[in-house]
Amino acid sequence: MRNVVIIGSGCAGNTAAIYSARANLKPLVVSGHEAGGQLSLTTLVENFPGFPEGINGPDLVENMKKQAEHFGAEYVHGSVLDTDLSSRPFRLNVEGHWMETSTLIVASGASARWLGLESEHKLIGHGVSSCATCDGFFYRGRKIMVIGGGDSAMEEANFLSRFGSEVTLVHRREEFRASKIMLDRAHANPKIKFLLNTVVDEILDPARKLVTSVRLRNLKTGEAWLQDVDGFFLAIGHIPNTKVFKGQIETDADGYIISKGGARTSIAGVFHAGDVQDRSYRQAITASGAGCMAAIEVERFLEAEGH
Ligand code: NAP
Repeated sequence: MRNVVIIGSGCAGNTAAIYSARANLKPLVVSGHEAGGQLSLTTLVENFPGFPEGINGPDLVENMKKQAEHFGAEYVHGSVLDTDLSSRPFRLNVEGHWMETSTLIVASGASARWLGLESEHKLIGHGVSSCATCDGFFYRGRKIMVIGGGDSAMEEANFLSRFGSEVTLVHRREEFRASKIMLDRAHANPKIKFLLNTVVDEILDPARKLVTSVRLRNLKTGEAWLQDVDGFFLAIGHIPNTKVFKGQIETDADGYIISKGGARTSIAGVFHAGDVQDRSYRQAITASGAGCMAAIEVERFLEAEGH
């Protein structure tokens, strides 16, 4: 029986682990299927305060983990496969083994949606990115491509136009999910060019561990061509990792946890931290802040129960 189990080992989960370990709660962190979270998919992080020269994403999360372990947090590899949150203690199935916990911090994140191309997978962190705020700066004066037709794609294209010499926005249809105001803003931006009815078939060049060009195809004409690109940004949505809580913790229609104030969820004793609830900021520092909040709430919750 645990005081607190933390699901997820990104910035939110690791920070929750540091705080709850220092509060003597001996947290158990279940690392999840993407151990280290989104930062483990990036290279240089330049906007996390305290690192004037920047720090590698995987190093940053590994440091957080070491810090939490130093104070007594335990980590277990693997994923939560099933949950029973109908009464306390809560029950979790971790890789086939059921365990019990008095409180729970859900820091399971939201995974970026990828196109699923092999070349894309090989170039993540080497020119392929799902975070314009994180990586746009590296493409000053370079050619940038953004994929997607929603608000994120418009926002990211506009943001990236501050850095890139040109931004090509590629969308698979002619109609947009983006709101009119965001779309109008992108259309009015002279640096952004639209390629509609167009899909990406391949990103080059995995052999050089560098994005050099993208093979595109027009779905209406069938025409295929190579376009020079330095930075390739996906903005085709995120998928919150809440499947194992379905029907238990209250979420919105897309599966994001609905906050009940602070770090509270619809279930007393279950708290949220990071991107699993946040569809707006999605930054390492905001996720860490949310992890801190969740741990403090767990501490207060247990204290109120006389622990
Ligand atoms: P979204 O609205 O779901 O849009 C995703 C886009 O990616 C769609 O255009 C979709 O194309 C495309 N897409 C999905 N899978 C694809 C694939 N495999 N290949 C090519 N294209 C693919 O996601 P989002 O833009 O991240 O926005 C999510 C939510 O956050 C929305 O509610 C949005 O309004 C909100 N948001 C708001 C703001 C803001 O107001 N400042 C900023 C960002 C996000 P199809 O249209 O063809 O399906």
